[in-house]
Amino acid sequence: MKWWGWGRADTAFHHDDKPALRPLLLDRLGVDIDIPAAAPPDVADLHIAPPRRPEPLTSALAAATRLSDDPVERLVHGTGKSLRELVDLRAGRLGRLPDLVVHPGDEAETAAVLRLALDHDAVVIPFGGGSNISGSLRPPDDEQRPVISIDLDRMNRVTSIDTESGLAVIEAGALGPELEEQLNAAGWTLGHFPDSFKHSTLGGWIATRSSGMQSDTYGDIAAMVLAVRVVTPHGLLETRPLPGTSTGPSVLQMILGSEGRLGVITEATVRIRPLPQRRVVLGYLYPSWEAGLRATAAITRGEARPAFVRLADAEETTFSLSLRTGGPGLAEKLLDGYVRKVRRQDPAQVCLGLVGFEGTPAAVRRDQRLVASAVKAAGGFPIGAGAGAVYDRKKFDTPYIRDFLLSRGVHADVSETGAPWSRLPGLYAEVMTAFHAGLAASGARGSVMCHLSHTDPVGACLYFTFAVVPAEDGDLHDYDVVKSAVQQAFVDGGGTLSHHHAVGTEHARWLSEDVSPAGAGLIGALFAGIDPAAQLNPGKIVP
Ligand SMILES: Cc1cc2nc3c(=O)[nH]c(=O)nc-3n(C[C@H](O)[C@H](O)[C@H](O)COP(=O)(O)OP(=O)(O)OC[C@H]3O[C@@H](n4cnc5c(N)ncnc54)[C@H](O)[C@@H]3O)c2cc1C
Repeated sequence: MKWWGWGRADTAFHHDDKPALRPLLLDRLGVDIDIPAAAPPDVADLHIAPPRRPEPLTSALAAATRLSDDPVERLVHGTGKSLRELVDLRAGRLGRLPDLVVHPGDEAETAAVLRLALDHDAVVIPFGGGSNISGSLRPPDDEQRPVISIDLDRMNRVTSIDTESGLAVIEAGALGPELEEQLNAAGWTLGHFPDSFKHSTLGGWIATRSSGMQSDTYGDIAAMVLAVRVVTPHGLLETRPLPGTSTGPSVLQMILGSEGRLGVITEATVRIRPLPQRRVVLGYLYPSWEAGLRATAAITRGEARPAFVRLADAEETTFSLSLRTGGPGLAEKLLDGYVRKVRRQDPAQVCLGLVGFEGTPAAVRRDQRLVASAVKAAGGFPIGAGAGAVYDRKKFDTPYIRDFLLSRGVHADVSETGAPWSRLPGLYAEVMTAFHAGLAASGARGSVMCHLSHTDPVGACLYFTFAVVPAEDGDLHDYDVVKSAVQQAFVDGGGTLSHHHAVGTEHARWLSEDVSPAGAGLIGALFAGIDPAAQLNPGKIVP
């Protein structure tokens, strides 16, 4: 993982083969992406403060497990991938980094590290893939105690599969591809595919209540995890994989979303499913966002069980089409003519829907028929498998665009929320209004687009992607004004502060409005009870 951006060092987004992107960004943001981009930062230019390595703690840790104080390792483990962190890193604002990074090989070593840290007045921050975008990893700037990052990368095995029950036991440090590879070899899948799949871990997903792109049918991580093992200050916390239990408030639910504040998750028992026999993603076009919403709600509440249902608004549809390589082909020209002349629809208002189908060939055929009739009833029509195949092939590459834009002075980020179906149309409009009001207040130029995903019979996630061109490079003021306006619109409009990107420090300001002051107090009391000296990832969720 790059220390200054997303993904592999040898992979980047390029626009040379996408002729429609430059004019679109010129029009929306006034930014010419043909101008030379800023070079990625050089680690040699950074001032990395020396680590605090108090004795006898450091020697005891070195005896207990694998230990490093390498400057780049400390840098990588001190930040996630929020826009603020990426902008700060590029500007050389490193903040407080962990002093030591440990790589325990098993649960016993993890417990030994935690015990040593607690006994020597040190701070512990569990590390998965470092992909969070909510400021969930950064030590507080004024932290005076030694800070130890616990990276679980050596704990990445699927240790057992219970084929009779459809359960697997997996170590918490397993990255998405690592655990899927092991499960697939036995004919199974977890089915959790966040956009960050390649660089995030099971432990991180649990600690942030993550949701994958197929949560519509597989459920989010909270629905997949049946049991956990967690190293806590009070010993090993262990829950059992049960189909149901009435044992008081759910201990498992307390661990879900705890962002390292209750202990280190070492292992989880998860639901798994047989690999689907067939998978296909089909595209549909709707004359408007409202028509797409009607169809999507009908599909979700109907008898079909698609793996995912996704609807882009008109702006996101335009943006997606601008990422195609080469000019418009014959099929696209014919489609454009069909939309204008036969269906008499405005191409600028057209919204792209994608539906993923999985299962036996017969189940896939049945679901396709059911979806087709819901789409038709809403005034939409099918466009085949082309757009869906591109989406499936490119879905894990899209995140590289943010670094591409950042190198050209554009602050691009996402904010997402969840709400009941009855609130979604109103909430969408309110967030758009709030975004543009925020933009006007900041005086910056910017743009916003949205898609709906993670559907459930009672509601769905609205996922906004926005870009702001700051007055000055490296200055987050305009971004902050706009991001705050969007987040405030979420909680004012009956949505949650984040559907699946957690609280961290970025969203902590809205916690009381989301779960009520009494609810926020309950979370604070839980953290204070288990960790009175705030040695476990302090400052996250509840400051
Ligand atoms: C480009 C991009 C796309 C993304 N797409 C999605 C998406 O589609 N869906 C989604 O849900 N999220 C998405 N995210 C957000 C991020 O990937 C998730 O929050 C993810 O769950 C974080 O996992 P991680 O292993 O990287 O955790 P980290 O970032 O390393 O840690 C996150 C938090 O969890 C804690 N933690 C990590 N491991 C443990 C452990 N073993 N025990 C206790 N606490 C632990 C950390 O202390 C920290 O507080 C995306 C992020 C990016 C940058």
